Amino acid sequence: MTAAPMVSTYSMWSLFRNCRKAVDWRYLQQLVPLGRDRNLHFGSIIHECLQAWHQRRDLAEVLALIDRLCPNRLQDENQRRDWHLATAMMTAYAARYAADDLEVVALEKNFEGPIVNPATGAASRSFVLAGKVDGVVRIGGEHFILEHKTAAQVDGDYLEKLWTDFQITIYAHYIEQTMGIPITGILYNVLVKAKLQQGKGETEEEYQARRAELLAKSKTGKTTAKRKLPESDEEYQARLAEKYADAAMFHREMLYLSRDRFAILRSELWELTQAFLDARRRGVFYQNTAFCFNYQRPCPYFALCRSNGNPNLIENFYQRAAPNEELRVLPNETTEPAF
Ligand code: SF4
Repeated sequence: MTAAPMVSTYSMWSLFRNCRKAVDWRYLQQLVPLGRDRNLHFGSIIHECLQAWHQRRDLAEVLALIDRLCPNRLQDENQRRDWHLATAMMTAYAARYAADDLEVVALEKNFEGPIVNPATGAASRSFVLAGKVDGVVRIGGEHFILEHKTAAQVDGDYLEKLWTDFQITIYAHYIEQTMGIPITGILYNVLVKAKLQQGKGETEEEYQARRAELLAKSKTGKTTAKRKLPESDEEYQARLAEKYADAAMFHREMLYLSRDRFAILRSELWELTQAFLDARRRGVFYQNTAFCFNYQRPCPYFALCRSNGNPNLIENFYQRAAPNEELRVLPNETTEPAF
C-alpha cells in the first residue's frame, strides 16, 4: 500500500528554500516555541475582523469580535494595545469602504491540489499543495484574489516588493483550478498600523525630577508644570481615530497576474519537492545561518540550533504542534503562523 501524499503548504516550501533545518524543526519534528509573536497575533486579529466585515458588513459585530479576541485587555498590556489599535483600525476601515466596488465571491477559501512535474505533466505521489486565500472578489466582471496585509508603512518599496509575493501567485493558479474561474490578478488590501502609543503618564518621582529641572531653568523660580496623568482609553481612541482619518492609512493595490510567472513558479515548486525528498532520504537538513536573523529578530529555532537540539530546551521552551495550522478554520479562534 502506498502512503498518502504529504499535505504541504507554500509556507513550508518557502521555509525550505530559506533554511532546510527550520523545516526539519517545524514540519518533521513538529516543534513550535511556547508563546506567540505579538505582531503576528495582531495580524491574525485583523484577518478575522476583515473576514467578518466582508461577510456581513456589520461594524458592531466586528467590534464585538475584537472584544472577544482580547478578553484580558484590562490586565494585559499587549492585549489592550491590540484591542485599541484593532478597534480604531476597523472603525475607520468600515467608514473608508462604506461604499465598496468589490463584490465578495468567497472568503477564507481553502484549496488542495496536485504538484505537477512540468516536464511530464505527472502529479507528485509524495506531496499535494494546500493553502487558503483571504478571499476571491469580483471587480468590473473580473475575478481577483483578495489578500489582506497589515503593514508598518506603505511606500514605493513596499508596493514594489509585492511582486515577489510568489505564494499568492501560485495560489491563484490553484484557485482557478478549484473554483473553475479565471483569476485576473491580486487585490492587496493593505491596512497600516498606527505607531501611536497610549500615554502612560508620569510617576510621582518622574514628575518631581522634571519639575526640579524646570525650576532650575526658570528665571522666576516658579513653574506651572503639573504631573502628567495617564492617557484615558477615550483620549487614546480619539487620537487613533484622528490618525486613521488620514486616507493614507489604507491602500488597495491591484496586481495583474502574468501567465509566464505561473509556469516559472510551478516548475520551482517541483524542484523544491525533489530537493526535499533527497534531503529526507539522506536525513540531511542543513542550516542556513544567513537566515537566522532575517526578520530583524532571531529565528524561533535559534536556541535549538545553537545548542545542537538540546533536549532540555525542547522540553522547557517548545511544544509539539501539527504542521499547517494556518489551514484550519475555527470560528473565533486566531490562527497561529506556521513559522
Ligand atoms: S536558527 Fe538559523 S540555522 Fe537554525 S533553523 Fe533557524 S534559520 Fe535555520
